[in-house]
Amino acid sequence: MADPITPVLTADWGTERAWQRQVYERRGGYGALRKALQLTPEEVIEKVKAAGLRGRGGAGFPTGVKWSFIPKDNPNPTYLVVNADESEPGTCKDIPLMMATPHTLVEGVIIAAYAIGAAHAFIYVRGEVLQVTRRLQAAVAAARTAGYIGTDILGSGYDLQVTVHSGAGAYICGEETALLDSLEGRRGQPRLRPPFPAVAGLYACPTVINNVESISSVPSIIANGEQWFAAMGTEKSNGMTIYSLSGHLANPGQVEAPMGITLRQLLQLTGGVRQGHRLKFWTPGGSSTPILTAEHLDLPLDYESMAGAGTMLGTKALQIFDETTSVVRSTLRWIEFYKHESCGKCTPCREGTWWLVQVLMRIEAGQGEEGDVEKLLDLCENIGGRSFCALADGAVGCLTSAIRHFREEFEAGYHTPAWELFPYRRSALF
Ligand code: NAD
Repeated sequence: MADPITPVLTADWGTERAWQRQVYERRGGYGALRKALQLTPEEVIEKVKAAGLRGRGGAGFPTGVKWSFIPKDNPNPTYLVVNADESEPGTCKDIPLMMATPHTLVEGVIIAAYAIGAAHAFIYVRGEVLQVTRRLQAAVAAARTAGYIGTDILGSGYDLQVTVHSGAGAYICGEETALLDSLEGRRGQPRLRPPFPAVAGLYACPTVINNVESISSVPSIIANGEQWFAAMGTEKSNGMTIYSLSGHLANPGQVEAPMGITLRQLLQLTGGVRQGHRLKFWTPGGSSTPILTAEHLDLPLDYESMAGAGTMLGTKALQIFDETTSVVRSTLRWIEFYKHESCGKCTPCREGTWWLVQVLMRIEAGQGEEGDVEKLLDLCENIGGRSFCALADGAVGCLTSAIRHFREEFEAGYHTPAWELFPYRRSALF
């Protein structure tokens, strides 16, 4: 049994040539696949359910439960799609994971596809990271050569093809249904749910869509057992996970730690906020999750505690901002991102994010008008929960929480530019 604090997914990040199949095999790689193929697909699903693995893409939906939604007597093909379109601001865990140990993902893909009865799996990679696409293509080819992918895998009678597909660099294509449209060759725009992809996904067939880290967690669950995984983390948020730490830190980077660790503990592990400065605000899971402040340093980073604090764990992208940061400027920067990335399909998101940017720009310039904060909140009221997908909800969440914690800074923008209140370089953050 591994010690709960021993890294699992990142254990080989420092190992030389860890991306090569032979190195992965020497470290026990593809042993979990052999074990899984001895089990029935239902037994594999039960193990993942019992482990309590929850989706690491942001929403935290139980992975094994999602797999079990695939209809049993379904005449159509079933597909597995890995969402490797990591794009949430501040999130940088899946890309290093795929670069360092791509075979962990490939092995997880084969096990997951076997469990749900898929004969074809797709890995949809963010368009900007060509090096990741190449690394995965090489890993899939190496796995095929070794007989882990193809027909009659390891003599089990199970057949699987794996396709690595590169997106074209649109944030919206990380939304699972927009991803499916993009994979089918159309412009990536969200579909109405329900039906959820488990019922009608790729080519209208039952499809499981999982995040890279979720699928990469599967081999270690099969190898070490569901109890091993369930023993780590908190009661309802199990296992180890990768946190992305960025911003005003002494040592930004990725840290693997149990679910439920606090930001204070993570800062102690990594050297803390940059010297001479103090924490002002932070995001628990990228800019789509409402911001928190120094008051929340001791909150456990798990789904339940974050929901209790009015935010979400999301992608576990901890963006740290010190006292030199203008909250108005950083929020404007985020909302500009959402405005740019809005796919334009629905009016509240397309028009609403544009209006938010207009009002925030004048507040940042010290030319805000009386009532602008109320106007922003009113706009948020009319965007949140009224758009097609979660993109606009993310924009609203960071803004309303910023106003909740730092309203006076927004109101100061009625007469003073942000660069006078925070006279550090305008580009200090970004
Ligand atoms: P969601 O809660 O709507 O769905 C989560 C998953 O569960 C989906 O796969 C969905 O199909 C499935 N599901 C939910 N209910 C179901 C049901 N009744 N039947 C069958 N399947 C069901 O969340 P979402 O809109 O897919 O994702 C939002 C999250 O994405 C946010 O929490 C955000 O943190 C995250 N996000 C991540 C990134 C990134 O780069 N990783 C980028 C933007 C947003």
